[in-house]
Amino acid sequence: MLKTDILVVGTGIAGLFFAIKTAMKRKDLSITIMTKDFAEVSNTQFAQGGIAAVLNTLEDSFEQHIDDTIRAGGGCSDKEVVRMVVEQAPERLYELIGLGVHFDTVNKGYDLALEGGHSHKRILHHGDTTGEEVERALLATVMSLSNITILEKHTVIDLVVENKTCVGAFYFTPDNRIHYTRFRTLVLSTGGCGQLFKHTTNPAIATADGIAIAYRAGAEIADMQYIQFHPTALYEPGKNPSFLLTEALRGYGAHIVNHEGKRFLFQTDSRGELATRDIVSGAIGEEFRKSGKNCVFLDCRHLDKETFAVHFPAILAYCKSIKLDPFTDLLPITPVAHYQCGGIVVNKNAQSSVNGLYAIGECARTGLHGKNRLASNSLLEAVVYAHQAAQAVCNSIDGTCLCTNGYINKYGIIPGKLHENQISILKKKLQETLQKFYLEGLPESHVTEIIAELKKQAFALYNSLTVSLKLIEILNMLTVAGIIVKQAKNGLSEPYLSENYCN
Ligand SMILES: Cc1cc2nc3c(=O)[nH]c(=O)nc-3n(C[C@H](O)[C@H](O)[C@H](O)COP(=O)(O)OP(=O)(O)OC[C@H]3O[C@@H](n4cnc5c(N)ncnc54)[C@H](O)[C@@H]3O)c2cc1C
Repeated sequence: MLKTDILVVGTGIAGLFFAIKTAMKRKDLSITIMTKDFAEVSNTQFAQGGIAAVLNTLEDSFEQHIDDTIRAGGGCSDKEVVRMVVEQAPERLYELIGLGVHFDTVNKGYDLALEGGHSHKRILHHGDTTGEEVERALLATVMSLSNITILEKHTVIDLVVENKTCVGAFYFTPDNRIHYTRFRTLVLSTGGCGQLFKHTTNPAIATADGIAIAYRAGAEIADMQYIQFHPTALYEPGKNPSFLLTEALRGYGAHIVNHEGKRFLFQTDSRGELATRDIVSGAIGEEFRKSGKNCVFLDCRHLDKETFAVHFPAILAYCKSIKLDPFTDLLPITPVAHYQCGGIVVNKNAQSSVNGLYAIGECARTGLHGKNRLASNSLLEAVVYAHQAAQAVCNSIDGTCLCTNGYINKYGIIPGKLHENQISILKKKLQETLQKFYLEGLPESHVTEIIAELKKQAFALYNSLTVSLKLIEILNMLTVAGIIVKQAKNGLSEPYLSENYCN
């Protein structure tokens, strides 16, 4: 049986930064990172715009970043958490730079960009591929640390909680087997839930596994109804994930126009294109209702070609690959599911309500985002909470020999056929249902009924089929869909009691 002091689940910015900080401070501890795909496959890899931090204190201030964050979150953020994250931002950013992350510079300083909802230019970025750069540098550092092991294509399925403490996990390997491991501490950094929706910017891995796993372990989950829809995904029907046209484009001066070529956002908010995502997405939705159309447009035609190409090379290349020219064409856009503001409830040390179970990054609900995340605050939250968790774990974990129990025979391997096709049908139905729930007002009671029926069908597959990654994912997605709809109905965060699909 695999033995590790610390098991980290996920190789995005949160998991990698936590592992690096912990491994450097506690060389006596072994750290294993499991990830269900290849190491670089994550939401982090897709991040375009950058990371928010107040570095220019002549024009900007912590107070203004704090105000912008709270305003974006509809006044529902935890003020102490916002202050902690904003005040730590410069230190954590310099740590990332120390680990080899390159951010664009100008005139011997960092080239700070503007994004919607920010009152100042404060976004550090690497062109329009910031996430890829972060992932590259962090993975390279992880590879150089001898006390960290990465296990790719290892999917964590469920946790074992003994005496209210998380002590073990089941995981699924590429040879279709389920294994069991024990550890002292578990860190979930499993990212978001975008794949629950028909249209999303999130890659295929974003199936909310961490939320479902923590929920079944009895952890408190909150604010899952606050799904952020990003207003400017490229409209390409049938494409999953949708290609994002970063917020930074609007900060750079791009306009949003309707089918008549008219800007319409100022009717909703005096900041126009620079309003927060929830407001811009809402205004676009209203435009859809009025016009009966499925998209509006991002207009970049008036922007300077040369600097555009320098700042947004990946977007330019993608547009050209589908025969769109941002300098002559209007770019069709639509709001799509982008970010999960809620998640596993954690305190300021990233500790969940279950002992030994930490959650960081997008799967955690820290209280920073309230109802709606401010642009470029997510990568920031991930590094701050990875740091907090690393400190807490390094200070509390002891160095005594790891206790190991034998394998718990919880999962039977039932020989049967893989019916990926049937699972795809369930997934598609779920994605369409949640999309309609959020964007077309499909009644909650109807959505609940559909989810219950899909769950029944998924359990039937679970009882008759060989366990597969797709089956694990659809069960998690249905569990989390149920939580989202229930929390949306209640309008309030409430803890959910564990319901274990395996018993
Ligand atoms: C297109 C796009 C652009 C974005 N741009 C920005 C931006 O500019 N600035 C910003 O702040 N934020 C941005 N975001 C949001 C930000 O990228 C994410 O919130 C952040 O990267 C999440 O990091 P994470 O480490 O929590 O999770 P992720 O990076 O999503 O990593 C999750 C990891 O968990 C693994 N995993 C999941 N389930 C399991 C399981 N059961 N077993 C094993 N492994 C598992 C996955 O394989 C993956 O390795 C963007 C997001 C997208 C999709």
